[in-house]
Amino acid sequence: MPAEIIDGKRIAAEIRAEVANRVSRLNMSPGLGTIIVGNRTDSATYVRMKHKACEECGLVSFHHPLPEDVEQKTVIELIQKLNADERVHGILVQLPLPKQCNEEQVLGAVDINKDVDGFHPVNIGRLAMKNREPMHVPCTPKGCIELLKRSNVQIHGKEAVILGRSNIVGLPISLLLLKNNATVTICHSGTPDMAAQTKKADIVVAAIGSAAMVKKDWIKPGAVLIDVGINSVPDETSKRGYRLVGDIDTKACEEVAGMITPVPGGVGPMTIAMLLQNCVTAAERTVES
Ligand code: NDP
Repeated sequence: MPAEIIDGKRIAAEIRAEVANRVSRLNMSPGLGTIIVGNRTDSATYVRMKHKACEECGLVSFHHPLPEDVEQKTVIELIQKLNADERVHGILVQLPLPKQCNEEQVLGAVDINKDVDGFHPVNIGRLAMKNREPMHVPCTPKGCIELLKRSNVQIHGKEAVILGRSNIVGLPISLLLLKNNATVTICHSGTPDMAAQTKKADIVVAAIGSAAMVKKDWIKPGAVLIDVGINSVPDETSKRGYRLVGDIDTKACEEVAGMITPVPGGVGPMTIAMLLQNCVTAAERTVES
C-alpha cells in the first residue's frame, strides 16, 4: 500500500483558522515587526508571504527594509526600537544577513519574548535543556512536530533520525524530537553512512538541501518521512523551466513508507502558520501579564 500523504496545506489552513479565531478574541491586533536587509528576491518573497498571511489572520505587520550596506549598529538600534514598541509583539529578522552583520549579535538583540522565530540563543538554549521551556520555538521545526502530532504519529519511544544539523532547522528539530521522548540520531556531512542510520528509523526528518537524496532502500517499511528540503531542479515541461523537489525521492519512497510529506505542500506551509501562532501567543501573553 502506498504511503499516506501528510497534507501540510490542509493542516496549515486549520492552524491559520485557529490563529484568526484567537486574534478575534483579543482587544487588539497582534503586531509583527519585520526587518529585511538588502535586495535578495527570495527573502523579499518570503517576507511578502508572511505579511499577506498576517493580514489574512488579523495581525498587523510593520515592515522595515534596510539597504544591503547598512551597518550592524543600525540594525541593532532598529531591533531595540521594536523591542520597546508596544504595538509589536513579534520581531522577525529575515535571514541570511549580509556579511558585515554578525548573525549571532543581531539575533541576540531581539527581546526573547518577541523572538517569534525562536532563534535567540537563550530560547535555543532553553529548548536544549531538560525542564526548561523557550518563549518561542523555531517555526519550521515546530511545524514538523505539529504535522506529526496532527497526523496522530506517536513520537514517544520512537527512533528518529534527522538529516542535517543547521541552527534553524536540523538542530532545533532534533531537540524537539528529544523533548518529545524520541531516541534521536543526527546525521551531517561527517556521517559516513546515512542510509545505515535511516534504515533503523521510525521517523526520518530530511533537512539537508540535496534534491531527492534519500532513496527507497534507505527507508524502514512503515516509517514516517518528513521532508523539509526545498530544491529547485531543471524541468523543461514546466513553464518556469524548473520545479521544486524535496530531499527525499518521494515517488520511490512512497512505496515503502507509512506516511510522507510532499514537496511542495508539506512542511513549507507550516512554517508561516507557526510564525502566526508564535506571534499571537506573544500578544496573548502581554494581555495576561
Ligand atoms: P543548511 O545548508 O544550513 O544545512 C544543511 C545541513 O545538512 C548541514 O547540517 C549539513 O551538514 C547537512 N548536509 C548537507 N549536505 C549533506 C550531505 N550530502 N550529507 C550529509 N549531510 C549533509 O540548510 P538548512 O538547514 O537551512 O536547510 C535545509 C533544507 O531545508 C534546504 O533545502 C532549505 O531550502 C530547506 N528549508 C525549508 C524550509 C521550509 O519552510 N520548508 C525552511 C528552511 C529551510 P554540516 O553541518 O556537516 O555542514
